[in-house]
Amino acid sequence: MRYSIFSLARQALSGHRNWQPAWRDPEPKPGYDAIIVGGGGHGLATAYYLAKEHGITNVAVLEKGYLGGGNVGRNTTIVRSNYMLPGNVRFYEKSLQLWENLSQDLNFNVMFSQRGVLNLAHSDAQVDAFARRGNSMRLHGVDAELLTPEQIAREVPALDLANARFPVYGGLMQRRGGTARHDAVAWGFARAADGLGVDIIQNCEVTGFRREGGRITGVETTRGTINAPKIGLAVAGHTSRLAEMAGLRLPIESHLLQAFVSEGVKPMLDHVVTFAAGHFYISQSDKGGLVFGSSLDGYNSYSARGNLPAVEHCVEALMSLMPSAGRLRLLRHWGGVMDMTMDGSPIIDKTPIEGLYLNGGWCYGGFKATPGSGWCFAHTIAQDRPHYLNSALSLDRFRHGEVLDEERSGPVPNLH
Ligand SMILES: Cc1cc2nc3c(=O)[nH]c(=O)nc-3n(C[C@H](O)[C@H](O)[C@H](O)COP(=O)(O)OP(=O)(O)OC[C@H]3O[C@@H](n4cnc5c(N)ncnc54)[C@H](O)[C@@H]3O)c2cc1C
Repeated sequence: MRYSIFSLARQALSGHRNWQPAWRDPEPKPGYDAIIVGGGGHGLATAYYLAKEHGITNVAVLEKGYLGGGNVGRNTTIVRSNYMLPGNVRFYEKSLQLWENLSQDLNFNVMFSQRGVLNLAHSDAQVDAFARRGNSMRLHGVDAELLTPEQIAREVPALDLANARFPVYGGLMQRRGGTARHDAVAWGFARAADGLGVDIIQNCEVTGFRREGGRITGVETTRGTINAPKIGLAVAGHTSRLAEMAGLRLPIESHLLQAFVSEGVKPMLDHVVTFAAGHFYISQSDKGGLVFGSSLDGYNSYSARGNLPAVEHCVEALMSLMPSAGRLRLLRHWGGVMDMTMDGSPIIDKTPIEGLYLNGGWCYGGFKATPGSGWCFAHTIAQDRPHYLNSALSLDRFRHGEVLDEERSGPVPNLH
């Protein structure tokens, strides 16, 4: 069923009784040409692009819970490509370009809103670093503007620039960046993949891998054995656990990250704003809530419940930046499990095990990568080699020392 103004009108006239389910609920088949483990944004996008770009439609996405229950439905929805290192910027820019046409491509409104992402600088050194990053972006054909404090005061009046605890010296703006509706992204990819023949199987946990002569032949699941010559892992915070089942030890740690939404208020913040005097980011959702977050909780965990010091740190940053928000009530608050690599950049690659492919290490930043990650991972699985766009996001870069450390924090995941 195509969604359009005409289908909406037709359904309205028949009392909305004839809408079809957005995707099927099939029983798993004994075997597929490819299996994607994890029905988050990346797994669903991979299945969609496998079918759309490579004609591989005999594909199953196996999800242990329900679609959208993982990080794809838990993030603060920031989308951008304002990276400096060539290996990252070319990949994230491809993703941003896919976002720009995603609603039309999927025939599903993912509410992508290019409202601009503004990084605030709080010292001369930060202004210099932002200028350097902006120049690198522009050399890669990506939009970037360095703003003065006066321009920022005009564009973002909600910020307290006059009495700020940490004065603002300037900012780096990417106007093509913005936000998207996170659930819609999962639902849109699921519906479009299902429409191309992909089986999306929920409540199906992968519990082990089948191997013959060193290569992967299938998975053990809570719904039985399912065979496939190619298996892609896209399980975000659970990447290290799944890899361990296959006998791989990865340069990934799992950490907890929390997010917050305030009660709804009238429009007060038109952009996504990040605060570099402490790690903090904020935007206002279309429903009016301020959506914000900060750093990791700082310890390894697979739990999705955070601790209070991280809440306090986040609210302190909010109050330094926008004291007017202090009178708002918090509406919702939750956590997600982050797959942190040792250099803060992701991995999309083959693994040393034939037939097993890896998509993980997304740290805080995998939502914006969703379409680009699916596109590149589908290519890697279908062609059995990485695409140029994900060639730098290799697993063995840690062995060779070719790390992509944008933050220059070294192999300390909780600092990335
Ligand atoms: C609080 C928070 C804020 C964030 N903010 C941003 C942001 O503003 N911008 C940004 O770009 N990124 C952000 N991120 C990161 C982003 O959400 C993630 O990097 C991205 O969603 C991860 O990819 P995914 O969508 O495929 O993950 P998920 O949705 O977590 O998908 C993985 C799926 O694998 C399933 N799974 C796990 N184990 C198994 C198994 N054994 N068998 C079958 N299925 C299994 C899980 O149930 C899950 O559904 C944020 C994350 C959090 C938690």
